[in-house]
Amino acid sequence: MTESVTLKQLSLGEVHDLAFNCLIANGCDDANAQAIADNLTAAERDRSESHGLFRLPGYVASLQSGKTDGKAQPQVEDTAPGVVRVDALGGFAPLALEVGRKPLVTKARSQGIAALALVGVHHFAALWPEVEALARDGLVAFACTSTLPFAAPAGGAKPLFGTDPVAFAWPRKDGPPVVFDMATTSMARGEVMIAAREGHDVPLGVGLDAEGQPTRDPKAILEGGVMLPFGGYKGSAISMMVELLAGALIGEVFSFQAGAADNRDGGPTRGGEFILAIDPARTSGGADWLGQGEALFQQMLETGAAPGAVRLPGDRRYANREKTPRDGVAIPGALYDKIVELTG
Ligand code: NDP
Repeated sequence: MTESVTLKQLSLGEVHDLAFNCLIANGCDDANAQAIADNLTAAERDRSESHGLFRLPGYVASLQSGKTDGKAQPQVEDTAPGVVRVDALGGFAPLALEVGRKPLVTKARSQGIAALALVGVHHFAALWPEVEALARDGLVAFACTSTLPFAAPAGGAKPLFGTDPVAFAWPRKDGPPVVFDMATTSMARGEVMIAAREGHDVPLGVGLDAEGQPTRDPKAILEGGVMLPFGGYKGSAISMMVELLAGALIGEVFSFQAGAADNRDGGPTRGGEFILAIDPARTSGGADWLGQGEALFQQMLETGAAPGAVRLPGDRRYANREKTPRDGVAIPGALYDKIVELTG
């Protein structure tokens, strides 16, 4: 049975103030609080609800336990013509991404391709903001990050991989970039938790129970069981790639190592993020790469059996982005009360 939830209506300005004040009250400096509040507000604006204010208690838990430094000033290092390395020094991702973006864009434009290695970071957000921002600067972008060990590789029965999201963005001729951003587990962990709370089964393939047997029971997956990557061995290979790119490639830990070091305070674990930015003006040989992309998107939309049957990833968020500045957003009343309490 679905629970009835009391909702609190907020404007986007109120969302930002709520987040900013709560972060300041719990030990962030202005720059970090501003960057995180911007990120959470953007998620609420697009109705990426699992990465909006819902995450604020987790940020606060990490500040209170001392795991994350809310005053960290990320350090930028120019390690090669096409590589920028940002050490978040144990801080949260939003400010570190902000300071790393400009040098990444400059390098991608001058070299044609550039990578950002973000290390020592606590990433608790969706990845679309970083790739969308790069595509708005005319670059094709890819990002991935590892997390806590929640998923087994294909054939395995013990947690090793994180939910390990990947995101990709492509600029468009007229309009916002096409962006996909997804966990590489077959279901987001938050959704398994909601299914457990509401007493729903999940599809087979989402996870295994404590005996390593396929199960539809979300509680059995969460309590002693394990999640699975999407698409069997294919998704498992992509999770493995994320672990390598956001771990070994940039001198950072894998999800299982991050998990062993984490204090399980409910906030983000410490690890890395890998971002790649490519300038199509340098790779397309003067061809109309933007027009070619549009041709693909048009063909995709036309394959639907009915109008609207096919949509492009990112379009749900962009549709919400049109509405929420006017209508505001509704968040669970219990979450609002919790944030007010955490703010003191
Ligand atoms: P979803 O499965 O909800 O969506 C994945 C992508 O598919 C989105 O880009 C979405 O676009 C697109 N999409 C969904 N339905 C369709 C459709 N019918 N047609 C075309 N495209 C579609 O995301 P997940 O649950 O896998 O991940 C949620 C978020 O969790 C991500 O933002 C991810 O970055 C974040 N995350 C962060 C972690 C961290 O440690 N920081 C760890 C794990 C996940 P649209 O947005 O428009 O719906």
